[in-house]
Amino acid sequence: MSDIQWRAEEAYEYPLLIKNLLFAPAAYNPEQEIVYRGELRFTYAQFRERVRKLAAALIDMGVKPGDTVAVMDWDSHRYLECFYAVPMIGAVLHTINIRLTPEQMIYTISHAEDMVLMINAEFLPLLGHIKSRIDTIRNYILLTDNREAEQLPVDFTGEYEALLAAAQPLQDFPDLDEKTRATTFYTTGTTGMPKGVYFSHRQLVLHTLSGLVSLASNPAQGSFHREDVYMPLTPMFHVHAWGIPYMATMLGVKQVYPGKYVPEHLLRLIDQEKVTYSHCVPTILHMLLKHPASEKTDFSRWKVIIGGAALAKSLCAAALQKGIDVYSGYGMSETCPILTISQLTAAELEHNSLEEQISMRCRTGTPFSLVHVKVTDEKMQPVRDDDRSAGEIIVRAPWLTQGYLKDQSNSRKLWAGGWLHTSDVACWNERGSVRITDRLRDAIKVGGEWLSSLELEDILISHPAVSEAALLGQHHERWGEIPFALVVLKEGQAVTAAELTHHMREFIDKGLVPKEAVLMKVKFVEALEKTSVGKSDKMAMRAKYSI
Ligand code: AMP
Repeated sequence: MSDIQWRAEEAYEYPLLIKNLLFAPAAYNPEQEIVYRGELRFTYAQFRERVRKLAAALIDMGVKPGDTVAVMDWDSHRYLECFYAVPMIGAVLHTINIRLTPEQMIYTISHAEDMVLMINAEFLPLLGHIKSRIDTIRNYILLTDNREAEQLPVDFTGEYEALLAAAQPLQDFPDLDEKTRATTFYTTGTTGMPKGVYFSHRQLVLHTLSGLVSLASNPAQGSFHREDVYMPLTPMFHVHAWGIPYMATMLGVKQVYPGKYVPEHLLRLIDQEKVTYSHCVPTILHMLLKHPASEKTDFSRWKVIIGGAALAKSLCAAALQKGIDVYSGYGMSETCPILTISQLTAAELEHNSLEEQISMRCRTGTPFSLVHVKVTDEKMQPVRDDDRSAGEIIVRAPWLTQGYLKDQSNSRKLWAGGWLHTSDVACWNERGSVRITDRLRDAIKVGGEWLSSLELEDILISHPAVSEAALLGQHHERWGEIPFALVVLKEGQAVTAAELTHHMREFIDKGLVPKEAVLMKVKFVEALEKTSVGKSDKMAMRAKYSI
């Protein structure tokens, strides 16, 4: 070995760990605020102390590296504390999707092997309902805003605040291997039971750093910087609220956690706390703008990234008119999530018409730093970058899930050919900016929730009068999409659309499908379009019925 390559024996090989995201803000901004529902206020110094106490309380409870700690809560300061404390002791944070059906929830808790469950008092009735079918959980921790005695359906180890009050703050956090799994959660994007994705410390740190480079470095529009006041409007259980709480904490900005999303309450927080930076699915923005209280809300300082579904030009225009600086971001559960954003440069703001700017803000966007995006045909060859030829978006980035938990076959499909396959169909231009046009898969996204078309079809077909059914997503102003069913009846049978909706509701009531399925529209047809190998041809159906 040459002299130049000598490495000092004591040189410290700095691991990319979540605990290291906490140093800077606590040092330069210890008095900055973290606000819960406009009611509770903590400084960053207190926040860090609470993270240390939570870590100690979990260790006292017997949580060991590799164990899984699950959370069921609305967006809260407590959730932010869990984002840090759980991975910092080497445990895995499972952010449970509180909108799953009870059946899916039972499945994900046992599949992830959750050992501790921190649960908001609001979900205790649900816990009462499912507790007999959960056998992995050793400790329950109660999360509550009013500390009155609750009716507890199981034995609780303690209430969150009481546990923190009793704990001695942990001073030293281990130097873990940076590839240690930090978080996990489940995506319901495709058919069958939800699939688990997972992210390491290293991945979350790199997503945070790259996110800040990409979001903060465009001074002309939509920049996220130290003077901002941040409030998430995509739930913390869904892909770590797009990872932006980690970025906000690293920046040391004021953060506002709104609890349950209630429109008038959110609008009040935007005003009162002077929120300047948020992110949400189009449905939430639509809901806020339609609310009567929005007339009196001052949106003029508010920057919002829209993702999870395409930002429609009409919604973009309505938001801009209210003074909201709105633009698109794209990603998915499997990708940690952010892959692209659509910020405008100073030149684009100066030289392009409003209409052109709206089109640019609604594009899926250009890649974050370190993200490598390609739009390819079935042979994984890039399609022409003429903004017209369509192909699948495939990606590489340092923070993509390396597979699905305990699911080899789907993991292989996801990573076929060494690129992560998004199943999103898009065009791209010569600047590498992508524009999603469709989805390869057939799941239907209603107001941010996925419905599996195959599951809904199975339910319809289980009705005695139904021979065949195909479910498509139909564009809807309010919900983004609603399920649209094409139904072929058995000979000599009759049934009405209302009776089929009633049939669907029985499955909703049993917790087998999300309640959004009730929005289904039904059209009776003679036959369904088929491909040459006899599969449902949904593309042909869309064309025929203009869906
Ligand atoms: P999820 O895994 O639930 O976050 O859903 C991810 C999916 O939402 C992606 O695969 C896309 O189909 C869709 N999606 C996310 N962001 C956008 C966007 N900006 N435009 C269009 N579709 C999007």
